[in-house]
Amino acid sequence: MPANPPRVVVVGGGLAGLVAAESLQAAGTPGTACRPGVILVEAKGRAGGVVETIQRDGWLIERSADNFLAARPEGMALVDRLGLSDELISVFEPSRRALVFRAGRTLPVPSGFRLLAPGLAAGIEATEILSAEGKSRLLAERNVPPKSPVPGDRGDESLESFALRRLGREAFDRLVQPLVAGIWTADPARLSMAAACPEFLRMEQEHGSLSSAEEARLGNLGTAHRAEGARYGQFVTLASGMGTLPERLAERIEAAGVERRRAAVTALERLPAGRWRVSLDRAAGGTETIDADGVVLALPAPIAARVMATADKALAAELGGIDYAGSAVVVLGYAREQVAHPLDAAGVVVPRIEGRRALAVSFSSAKFPGRAPAGHCLLRVFLGGALDPERNLLDDDQLVALAREELAAIVGASGPPKLIEIARWPAAMPQYHLGHLERIERMTRRLDMLPGLALAGAAYEGVGIPQVIASGQAAAERVMASLRAAG
Ligand SMILES: Cc1cc2nc3c(=O)[nH]c(=O)nc-3n(C[C@H](O)[C@H](O)[C@H](O)COP(=O)(O)OP(=O)(O)OC[C@H]3O[C@@H](n4cnc5c(N)ncnc54)[C@H](O)[C@@H]3O)c2cc1C
Repeated sequence: MPANPPRVVVVGGGLAGLVAAESLQAAGTPGTACRPGVILVEAKGRAGGVVETIQRDGWLIERSADNFLAARPEGMALVDRLGLSDELISVFEPSRRALVFRAGRTLPVPSGFRLLAPGLAAGIEATEILSAEGKSRLLAERNVPPKSPVPGDRGDESLESFALRRLGREAFDRLVQPLVAGIWTADPARLSMAAACPEFLRMEQEHGSLSSAEEARLGNLGTAHRAEGARYGQFVTLASGMGTLPERLAERIEAAGVERRRAAVTALERLPAGRWRVSLDRAAGGTETIDADGVVLALPAPIAARVMATADKALAAELGGIDYAGSAVVVLGYAREQVAHPLDAAGVVVPRIEGRRALAVSFSSAKFPGRAPAGHCLLRVFLGGALDPERNLLDDDQLVALAREELAAIVGASGPPKLIEIARWPAAMPQYHLGHLERIERMTRRLDMLPGLALAGAAYEGVGIPQVIASGQAAAERVMASLRAAG
């Protein structure tokens, strides 16, 4: 039987935890026994986790996420709840395309090509990224038979295997691999198609080929949506930067009565009657325990594994099995004339076969207004990832030297940058390896035996900001259902 009113502790003040706290605080009817008291415990002084914006001397620097997809409703709905709709901006129209670094040049991704979907024949024929053989192989995608499902086999396939089978080696090496690395910083040979790209599996199964599926999709869309760049127009941010989202949300939940504590949670313990004891190391010094009726763990999976170690070994083992990749974002600002490239795109991705160290360069000031002072440009260089983990071991000077070398080769940047900011993310990107969905199913079954406990965050069902918001909301609903059942 929960205490009256019940108490719920949310652990982790990244976007997932903030949204979980918001949903819990809003849940139930005011004055009834089921309206929980919510405590949000965050190890750092700042809410937002990886999402952080810095403003300095006229530069606006995103340390990690710099936009989110508007096509899913959760991000847009949050912006609306926070009264930030007037601040929404989408990618500047002339920059609504991506480039690929190929043999010393930056070339546009073939018209209509979408991560794994070949797009328009005219686009493939016109591209200089692929050889004649590579183009024929990609155009032949429509004739590649779909993989027949083997009864009883879940048939999880890696993204690399799927792309090689359907699109051929060249399109994989020169297009798919760099685009995937730019999103998941993942090893495509281990990345699960079913977990990371289920849409393309469905396209293959329902239409026989990605080419036919894409034709049907484009045929169903209006002309405005078929226009080149329409997809990039779906990426939005806030004029004041992504960091405004967690900042405002933290203020909102605090005003609504959520208690915020600065402490690192070290362990969970199961108490009788389905209650939980949360152990904390207070930032101000000393330890403390909080007894609660419900707990949302909105932590990176390896930390959640440590916290769960004694409370439930099976769940801890599953959490510990989710790998993470690290990356570093080196943000450099230049006077515009120091950079030869026209910066007429959202950015450039760099295939591994090109032998360079950058995974991608985002043209921040070309993508969104207000990112650099007049006459300047801001570039973000992504280094590291699952295939290049030692990049995180470089010291700051080495990282900046490396980023400058990469920018010199890729966009013709010269001379010392006017602004330098380094964001290190040693283990921030969960890797949805083969078998990820089966792991999530096992974890869900295990959680069914642990009433009052829920998990939220990027480690489970989507790394993008809208999915992370959805995970916070789902975790809050799960805990509320437990409280109602107990109460
Ligand atoms: C470099 C980079 C670029 C990205 N770009 C984009 C993008 O452009 N668009 C997009 O949609 N997504 C992007 N993402 C993904 C997205 O930003 C993340 O998936 C999302 O923000 C993760 O939120 P989270 O709440 O799950 O985790 P986190 O943000 O990691 O939050 C976890 C929180 O838990 C806290 N914590 C840790 N240990 C403890 C403890 N023991 N006790 C209490 N608190 C603790 C941490 O301090 C942190 O605040 C990017 C990610 C990275 C790393």
